[in-house]
Order: sequence, then structure tokens, then C-alpha cells
Amino acid sequence: MNDFKPEESLADTRHEFGEHGGVNMSVEPSTTFTVMDPATMPEIFQGQRGPDDGGCYLYGRHFNPTVYALGRELAAMEGTEAAYLASSGMGAVVSAIMQCCDSGDHIVASNTLYGGTFVLLAEYLPQKCNIQTTFVDATDIDAVAAAMTDKTRVVYAESLSNPTLQVADMPKLAETAHSGGAQFIVDNTFCPLVMSPAQLGADVVVHSLTKFINGASDIIAGAICGTHEFVTSLMDAHMGSLMLLGPTLDPQSAFSLSMRLPHLGLRMKEHSRRAMVFAERLDEMGLDVVYPGLSKHPQHGLFGELANSDYGYSGLFTLDVGDASRAEVLMDVLQNRDRFGYMAVSLGYHHTLMSCSASSTSSELSEADLKEAGIQPGLIRFSLGYTGGLEQRWEQFADALKSVEITAL
Ligand SMILES: *Cc1c(COP(=O)(O)O)cnc(C)c1O
Repeated sequence: MNDFKPEESLADTRHEFGEHGGVNMSVEPSTTFTVMDPATMPEIFQGQRGPDDGGCYLYGRHFNPTVYALGRELAAMEGTEAAYLASSGMGAVVSAIMQCCDSGDHIVASNTLYGGTFVLLAEYLPQKCNIQTTFVDATDIDAVAAAMTDKTRVVYAESLSNPTLQVADMPKLAETAHSGGAQFIVDNTFCPLVMSPAQLGADVVVHSLTKFINGASDIIAGAICGTHEFVTSLMDAHMGSLMLLGPTLDPQSAFSLSMRLPHLGLRMKEHSRRAMVFAERLDEMGLDVVYPGLSKHPQHGLFGELANSDYGYSGLFTLDVGDASRAEVLMDVLQNRDRFGYMAVSLGYHHTLMSCSASSTSSELSEADLKEAGIQPGLIRFSLGYTGGLEQRWEQFADALKSVEITAL
């Protein structure tokens, strides 16, 4: 167990009072900011005077006080020096990667990643930017080391992979990356609070805030957490990916997201508690369930070593029901007969979301890549919600399994 306490760190961040002493910080919607002293303008533009160094916020695509406040909170949560926000998880992923790589550089990435990230690395970046990626089984550290070249600038993995729920051995991956002179970037979307990759050697931590951190499926956003130097480099007027590609988050969304952080811990614990109960019962029934909380999961022990205490094993499990048509029938009954959850992509919502990964969020992968990543056609990914009673939900689930005659394989 890791002894990092992300919620204590979060609670220690500077509290923002609102105007008039409001208990919530005020939203600063301005997209441009007044330079009070003309002599400081050149230094502000050269990035030498940020908002914390006697400069000003300059312009909304650069820094904004409300977005900056959320950045401080996420930095505290991940235990990094700094963080800033993007208008989507993909905005964060691509900005972080491009900040580390030039044309001709190389990336070593896990072969099981969010579909959008996978095609970004497999197709978009090679064609548009001549940045090549070698995909490897990231649980095989020797394979990661063997894939590194003198051009490798980034090793990329997800703390808990989408949708295969493979656990990244972050300390070992960090060591491998660093010994080859590369940065280790971790996507921690599946495990906010549960894991703290920067405490385990990651140089940069990215998030899709659209998922658990938001929790209500109503805002698209992303975060990049890292050193002060790295976050400042993202905002550089000449070479900054956030500044120049432009996916900076807007202040209204940043404010709303900041309001969700105080109860993220309660939500993660309840997602985890319920997912554990479901996974154990499905396992007892002899079904093909994957959940890192089960002792049969290949990285169950590793998860326990890496995770922060008290948050469980996160809220996602997968169930392989054999083939795509059985998966469709089961989801149809769960959604349309039992109102158990929604057939929808995404995750981390208060209600259960379920999708067949091979035909949805991982459909960017070819048949061969799906096979390589272990994503079977009948694999359903469940992001277990916490609405309704746990036993009420289990009864619905067990009934649906019975109705569509899904029993031990
Ligand atoms: C959803 C997701 C993303 C992309 O985030 P968006 O907010 O949809 O752009 C990246 N990584 C993982 C693991 C995700 O689940």
C-alpha cells in the first residue's frame, strides 16, 4: 500500500473564497486580463512572469484564475508541482505527448489503451508528425526495455487499462523509461484517488475528467499534471502545445469540475465497494469476470502494492459472455427491461454504463489488435454506478443473467 493521502493533500490546497466571502470560489469568466504595468508586458509574453510571479493571467487560452485554481487542486490530488486543464481528455493526452516529442521521435506504448489514444499513436501521429510508436505488452518489462531506441522520448501506459483492466507496474515502467532517457506518461482516468502515478515514478499524469472526476457525464475535460517546468512549457507562446493547439479548458467548466472534487473520494469508494461485490458474486457463479479486486486477477497483488489505501479497486469490471450477440441480448434486458443501467460508452457516471468494447470504444482497433490486446467480441465493460440499492441492483443483474441463460462457461 502506498501511504500517499490524495484527499488530505487536496484539502490542504489554498482555499479560494468567492467574492463577498462566498463559500465557493467565484468564476472569473474573462478571456483577457489587464496588464497594470506596461513595463511587464514583454516578460509576461516571454513566459517569464506568470500569475504567481508578479505577472498577470494574460489571456484565456493561456491562464485563467478559475482554471488555474482547478489546476492547483488536481496537482495537489496527484502530488505534482503543477497541473493545467484541457477541454477534453484527448486534448490533454495529445498535448502532453506532443510536448515531449519532436518529428522523428519514438514512443513505446502499452498495446491496451483507450481507443482514441491508440489510433492517435498508431495512425495520426506517424502520418501527421512522423512520431512513431511501438506497442508492447506493458506487463512485460523486458519487452518495454527491448522496444526502446535512442529516439524514444515517451513510455506511455494507463494505470488501469481500458478495457482489459491490466495494471501497469508503474515503478518498473518509470525506471525503464528513465534509464532510456524517456519520460513516463500515465493516463490515470480509471483510477483517480485510487492510484497516484506521480508517487510511483510517472513524470506526467493525464486524466479524462469526463469520467469519474466529473461523475455526472455532463462536462468534457482533461488534465495534465507534472512539474512546474513542464506545465509552463505547455503554455509557451512559441512551443507550448496547450497554448498553440488551443484545447485549454474554459472557466465555467473548471468551476463545475472543482465542485465535484470534494465528493470524488466518497464516490470512488462506493463505486469500488459495489464493483467488488458484483465481481465476487459473478466469480462464484463461475462466470468470466475480470476485476483487479479478485485474487485471481494476474496483477491483484501489484494493484494492492501500488494503490492508495481506502479507495478499493475502482468501479469497472468486465464480463465476457462469449459472443457479441449474447452481449447485446444481455445489455438489452438490463437496460430496457430491468432499468439496471444504460448501454452507453464512457464511465464513472452515477448510474451504471455498459458497452461492448470491441464494437464501441475499442472499435478503432483492427481484429488483430483487438486479439493482441485481449478484447474478445463478447466482452462487456461495466462501469458500476451507485444509484439504487446494492441488493436491488444485484437482483436485477442476476435476473437478467438468468433470463438470457448466461450461466457458468
Ligand atoms: C475517455 C478516455 C480518454 C479521452 O477522454 P475524453 O474526455 O473523452 O477526450 C482518454 N483516456 C481514457 C482512459 C479514457 O477513458
